[in-house]
Amino acid sequence: MIDVIVVGGGPTGLWLASELRLHGVRVLVLERDAEPTPIVRSLGLHARSIEIMDQRGLLDRFLALGQQYPVGGFFAGIPKPAPDRLDTAHPYVLGIPQNITDRLLAEHAAEAGVEIRRGCELAGLSQDEDGVTAGLADGGQLRARYLVGCDGGRSTVRKLLGIGFPGEPARVETLLGEMKVTADPAAIAAANEEVRKTQRRFGLMLLGDGAYRVLVPAAGVAEDRAVPPTMEDFQRELRAVAGTDFGVHSPRWLSRFGDATRLADRYRAGRALLAGDAAHIHSPAGGQGLNLGLQDAFNLGWKLAAEVGGWAPEGLLDSYHAERRPVAADVLDFTRAQMELMSVEPGPQAVRRLVSELMDFEDVNRYLIERITAIGIRYDFGAGPGLVGRRLRDVGLKRGRLYGLMHGGRGLLLDQAGRLSVAGWADRVDHVIDVSEELDVPAVLLRPDGHVAWAGEDQQDLLSQLPRWFGAALG
Ligand SMILES: Cc1cc2nc3c(=O)[nH]c(=O)nc-3n(C[C@H](O)[C@H](O)[C@H](O)COP(=O)(O)OP(=O)(O)OC[C@H]3O[C@@H](n4cnc5c(N)ncnc54)[C@H](O)[C@@H]3O)c2cc1C
Repeated sequence: MIDVIVVGGGPTGLWLASELRLHGVRVLVLERDAEPTPIVRSLGLHARSIEIMDQRGLLDRFLALGQQYPVGGFFAGIPKPAPDRLDTAHPYVLGIPQNITDRLLAEHAAEAGVEIRRGCELAGLSQDEDGVTAGLADGGQLRARYLVGCDGGRSTVRKLLGIGFPGEPARVETLLGEMKVTADPAAIAAANEEVRKTQRRFGLMLLGDGAYRVLVPAAGVAEDRAVPPTMEDFQRELRAVAGTDFGVHSPRWLSRFGDATRLADRYRAGRALLAGDAAHIHSPAGGQGLNLGLQDAFNLGWKLAAEVGGWAPEGLLDSYHAERRPVAADVLDFTRAQMELMSVEPGPQAVRRLVSELMDFEDVNRYLIERITAIGIRYDFGAGPGLVGRRLRDVGLKRGRLYGLMHGGRGLLLDQAGRLSVAGWADRVDHVIDVSEELDVPAVLLRPDGHVAWAGEDQQDLLSQLPRWFGAALG
């Protein structure tokens, strides 16, 4: 008896599965690869993802294995200080390699009771009124009530569902790998500084164990990006860009990535949904892809759990597409813009200089950083006070911190005057009577993903909003 099959055990799938388990959903993750990939793509988490980890009690694990960097300088790599007064308790980037993030998420999922079946590839898919049948590459079949494709940019689920993936193919490609070098560190530092004045898709970054993470633009775009580049490719491209190949040797892994930019037409087809790279791909400029996938999963988890649990109000599951697809469309545009600003052509370089000057205005700098960190997102919940639709930052309470009360993934009414009631929804919504000096509204109703569903002080007004997110009252 499986409620939800999650296809893909990358960060999006693992996080979604954990979120579903919070609500007792029986979930199975199918992962094609028998072993975790050695390739390290993402290098960090932005503020909203750090907040999400905090909201589920995982922050300490991430902080213990990551390094905190200033958040300035992430937009197109334009070096600027972090803006003042960012609206978050976590105004930093957490540098943490994706293989560690993936491991922490897999451990969290296993602790939550998620079964992760490795070496298990989805190859077929059909659905009817009651559920979804997943065909496996080994010939087996599995049945569940819902299925979510978190199977990456080349998503089999998306293709089997016939969901369109319009956008642009890659225009440029970059080689990325981990290897040793014979050149001395001073020569490498000098080359990094010189070449990166104009070419931002270049760099040799020293890793903890003496090896380097090497990034260099490729001359063209490979026909099949799944075919890894060779050491000769790296040597040739390094010589072309930097005049030396730095004596690179002994690679641990070699890969390539492009700037193809595409967005799924729909995030849902019946009982099947898409999340993460399966729904959107774009260049890694600004480091947003993994973050976007985690945040998709955070939005979808409780809604799908509500559907499985039988208490979802009409339209709740569809609000996943309505809320998250515009966010992805924005990120796609944001990465397109950053790629333009990173071009070596004179026109874009001039625009880069202009944007760099504009970023000296505090409001411009803050606007860009709020977008890249995803703390500025406001879902359209209709008219309401400014907070409504936004996620609420962690605030201090008389008895602890707000995020410390959200580990269970339930709704939460923070009631500063203690005059309100969530009777009828008490099985889905926690009622916390406490005071925060950082909050200037009498009460807020938070969804399980921390977005403000309602703010005010009137019980009747609150009663008009509870069913919209949490379904019918009990008894
Ligand atoms: C060079 C580079 C740097 C990056 N840097 C950053 C960064 O700094 N910050 C950031 O936020 N993002 C970054 N990204 C993006 C980030 O790596 C991805 O957005 C992220 O991995 C997407 O997670 P996902 O779980 O959606 O997909 P994936 O990580 O691709 O996981 C999909 C999983 O599905 C499995 N799978 C595929 N098909 C099947 C099937 N048929 N059956 C079963 N399993 C299947 C795959 O084996 C894989 O494990 C970077 C990307 C690149 C290329």
